[in-house]
Amino acid sequence: MNLSVLWDLRGIMRRHTLSLIGSYTDDDAIIFEFTLPKGLRWEAGQHGLFTLPRKKVHGQRWRAFSIASVPEEGCVRIATKIPETPSSFKQVLRSFVPGDTITLYGPYGWLRLQDTTTPVICVAGGIGITPFRALFKSFEQTNTRIVELVYACPQTYYFKEFLDEVAQKDPHIRITYTRTVEETNAAITQAVHAHGTESYYLISGAPGMIKGVGALLRAQRVPRQRILSDSFRGY
Ligand SMILES: Cc1cc2nc3c(=O)[nH]c(=O)nc-3n(C[C@H](O)[C@H](O)[C@H](O)COP(=O)(O)OP(=O)(O)OC[C@H]3O[C@@H](n4cnc5c(N)ncnc54)[C@H](O)[C@@H]3O)c2cc1C
Repeated sequence: MNLSVLWDLRGIMRRHTLSLIGSYTDDDAIIFEFTLPKGLRWEAGQHGLFTLPRKKVHGQRWRAFSIASVPEEGCVRIATKIPETPSSFKQVLRSFVPGDTITLYGPYGWLRLQDTTTPVICVAGGIGITPFRALFKSFEQTNTRIVELVYACPQTYYFKEFLDEVAQKDPHIRITYTRTVEETNAAITQAVHAHGTESYYLISGAPGMIKGVGALLRAQRVPRQRILSDSFRGY
């Protein structure tokens, strides 16, 4: 583990209690909005570890979730897919009503902007769009760099309306929606040709996708240090 990852991990020492403000569904996902405790800050793209205090959860009692909002929005937003037979953790989370509390360790993480100018190519798979929703929110405030998002999903593109709205207002931002692996790989290859191997490549989604996209980028000579990823284990 290198020093910068250890530095990014510091945030895990911080603990916050958040109350649910409200939630809504988008196809097979639920989006939860929690209160923002005083002093809680993070960088767009980061995630936290969440536990459900005073609730009975069988098996692993915590889950990592990316934060899909930025502090300026005044809430901590997370989004997760609830499968047909959910884990005990997600069964409890699904039953949350306003006022229920969750504990957040963090936020922390390495999937974030590294500077203010280098082009950023984001690759999301399915619910892996969550950290990029926060990045797009931050681009809405200020952005002068080139940003490409390749969003691969067999079904629903979560947060699509919002993403399109941001891209429409900012000529530096381009989004390609894809369905198949072939389409996704072609869009990524095109982005490497257009923006070069020294751009930052941020990948978020299921482990299989992270592996495939990472291999594709490495085959195109993108240096390892330019590839940052969050592997959504469990998908
Ligand atoms: C940095 C990061 C950010 C994430 N952000 C999000 C997010 O924004 N939204 C979201 O929905 N999910 C996110 N995840 C994934 C999330 O933490 C859960 O793992 C996922 O939602 C599945 O949870 P589950 O309760 O449905 O299934 P689980 O019960 O956790 O797991 C389903 C299957 O995966 C296996 N599994 C679980 N954990 C591991 C592991 N660590 N290693 C190997 N196999 C494992 C289980 O054995 C089981 O077979 C993130 C993960 C990481 C690491």
